[in-house]
Amino acid sequence: MDYQSTRGGERGVSPSLAIVKGLAADGGLFVPDSIPKLSKSLRELSELSYQDLAYEMMKLYLTDFTEEELRFCIRSAYDDKFDCPEIAPVVKEGKFFYLELFHGKTLAFKDMALSILPYLLKVSTRKNNIKEKIVILTATSGDTGKAAMEGFSDVEGTEIIVFYPKDGVSDFQERQMKVQKGKNTHVAAILGNFDDAQSGVKRIFADEEYRAELLKKGYRLSSANSINIGRLVPQIVYYVYAYCQLLKQGELSEGEKLTVSVPTGNFGNILAAYFAKEMGLPLGTLLCASNENKVLTDFFHTGIYDKNRPFHLTTSPSMDILISSNLERLLYAVNRKEKDIEAYMKDLNERGRYQISEEMQKKLEEEFYSGFGRDGEGSVTIFQTFKETGYILDPHTAMAKLLADHYAYESGNKEKLLIVSTASPYKFSQTVLRALKEYVPEDVYAAIQSVAELWKKPMPEVIRDVMESEVRHNTVCTVPDMKLTISHFLLS
Ligand SMILES: *Cc1c(COP(=O)(O)O)cnc(C)c1O
Repeated sequence: MDYQSTRGGERGVSPSLAIVKGLAADGGLFVPDSIPKLSKSLRELSELSYQDLAYEMMKLYLTDFTEEELRFCIRSAYDDKFDCPEIAPVVKEGKFFYLELFHGKTLAFKDMALSILPYLLKVSTRKNNIKEKIVILTATSGDTGKAAMEGFSDVEGTEIIVFYPKDGVSDFQERQMKVQKGKNTHVAAILGNFDDAQSGVKRIFADEEYRAELLKKGYRLSSANSINIGRLVPQIVYYVYAYCQLLKQGELSEGEKLTVSVPTGNFGNILAAYFAKEMGLPLGTLLCASNENKVLTDFFHTGIYDKNRPFHLTTSPSMDILISSNLERLLYAVNRKEKDIEAYMKDLNERGRYQISEEMQKKLEEEFYSGFGRDGEGSVTIFQTFKETGYILDPHTAMAKLLADHYAYESGNKEKLLIVSTASPYKFSQTVLRALKEYVPEDVYAAIQSVAELWKKPMPEVIRDVMESEVRHNTVCTVPDMKLTISHFLLS
């Protein structure tokens, strides 16, 4: 299997090289030449552990990895870092099922892919004879940076550097990063907002001279963001795993359709669901849930993607996004004309908007149903779900539940419905307590303990760890000093 750019500028790229490169040279995203079909029946697949299923699925995409290499990556990623042996369990609460993707170290779904990416990258650099150390450089608004550091921590041949906005992440998220262990992890708070951090990082990636200077010293810059094919492929696994679990439990019969609802930001998670469906997994409609930054809802309804609009800071910050990068892969999947994709992305870049053809819009309409919720509606959803079932939703998952309720009511569709749960409510304790109309302690740890009492589930060990570990990172820098800070981290 080879990979090519959605914009046609690169073709015949091996899977491992696509992982090393991240982004294609023409600015496009790597996509496989074709989408493979499931290799075994769902019955057979449902007998497999998460790790063995991951191997069966990923080998279809990463065809230049040997069995030993791929199994090494999977074994290293999906071990007791996760707090339950299923890795991604499915639970039933009320009339819906929930796929819990928050059992990894940072309590959010980014762990599913960022636990394995470092190993995929390590094998890929070796296969492509790259001798330099890989330096992962990333700007974060909270979840990605921590999950990436946790994934790369002490992975040989790598360094990871994270910049976050000093006053732009939650207290718990900041503490999560400041106590990060690992000799190769580096964190700096920047005096600016997330956009400043993000543009700062982009400028450094574009700075040929600086990159060459680092290369001479044995460092190659790379990125861990969700456009890397090494993040998409591992995410396909848990959709198949969820279906197989329901099959095994007798909740689904083989071939029965399953509707899924996904809280969406950069369009990575839901794109993995689309790939799983194209591989032959019997998924029904894919529900794309947005928060008040509803650029995707408008896109699916009108065929016009328009980022020229006010940006809202919401209580589901990981969905506060106006450019959903992975959508480009979906456009390519439904219209394999590279020139069209290139033109859309040029429009997006120059005018902040593009319009797809009516034919494409029709195709998308058959597969996707979209909608958005405001913070207040999310709170009501958290409150009602708790009253009805005792289950506590985080503010992102609440958006998917809200849309699921709406869809079930509007469509009258009786298919079983799976809600993808992307974060633990502990991570957003104060928002959750407010939604539940409970007293909200100012202290984060106290708020987390209140949620634990309401939920009657043991608090994850990683929380105590974060609260009790010593602070190891205290660097603060200005935006113009980001380069200097990197040099300091790597060379001193
Ligand atoms: C990143 C994230 C999302 C959005 O996922 P995408 O793959 O970017 O669409 C949703 N919820 C949480 C908690 C996240 O961290």
